Amino acid sequence: MDLGISGRWAIVCAASQGLGKGCAEALAHEGVNLVINARTAETLEQTATELRARFPAIEVRTVVGDVAQTDIQETLLAAAPQVDILVNNAGGPPPGDFRDWDRTDWLKALDANMLTPIALMKAVVDGMAERGFGRVINITSGAVKAPIDILGLSNGARSGLTGFIAGVARQHRLAGKNVTLNNLLPGAFDTARLQKTLQVASQANGDLNAVTEARIKTIPAARFGTPEEFGAYCAFLCSNYGGYITGQNLLIDGGAYPGTF
Ligand code: NAP
Repeated sequence: MDLGISGRWAIVCAASQGLGKGCAEALAHEGVNLVINARTAETLEQTATELRARFPAIEVRTVVGDVAQTDIQETLLAAAPQVDILVNNAGGPPPGDFRDWDRTDWLKALDANMLTPIALMKAVVDGMAERGFGRVINITSGAVKAPIDILGLSNGARSGLTGFIAGVARQHRLAGKNVTLNNLLPGAFDTARLQKTLQVASQANGDLNAVTEARIKTIPAARFGTPEEFGAYCAFLCSNYGGYITGQNLLIDGGAYPGTF
């Protein structure tokens, strides 16, 4: 299936590995030129080199730095000749007990997981509307729908972003100009972050295999998702066929969320 987005430009934040990289790969496969970002120069350049080798027809540019910093956001925006597709992503806030978090912890989580996506969207959506094509994907979390107690910083910041998107995506000046804004909600995906979470959980009982098996048992699909599957869903939403899907929170979790809706 040709998604019809060859030659377009995408910014994919936090994309040297994991879900962001999965999205970058799937877009590259469709012939989309990329600006990719992460804080560690070495791994970001490795990913860029890999993408250039696999997809020689596209251009891949890199911007090293924390996407929550204003100067890095400006550099990212300046690196693409125009932004047709924006994939917002960043590391998730740390787990913990809300009694231990102060204002600084909250502002850090809000900056990375709510205010940064909003700032990048603000910079690009009106230009997208003028050109008659735009796709914004925010990588949030299944925890927005089924909150996890110890992820309070994430639940709070991502819910704020979710509420914001629900309103702005429905503006006629965006939706009516083929600009869509959607949130992709990952369940458990086999990435470095998930492995780290499993390792931390296993420190309590010392058995990584048992913790991993127990986690997998909570998922009807009986496995973790892959960044490739996540990226393919993202690429479809960013495609020419995605124009009638906007303001949605789309779970991709192997059936883990138990509700009807
Ligand atoms: P990951 O494998 O740890 O990859 C994170 C990527 O983001 C890396 O490329 C990392 O590179 C980059 N990054 C992190 N913080 C950044 C920042 N402030 N600025 C720029 N780049 C940054 O994580 P993942 O599993 O793909 O998770 C991606 C997002 O999905 C996270 O917000 C996570 O909470 C959420 N999520 C994941 C899962 C899951 O099962 N994997 C489930 C629910 C939600 P550097 O470290 O070099 O910056």
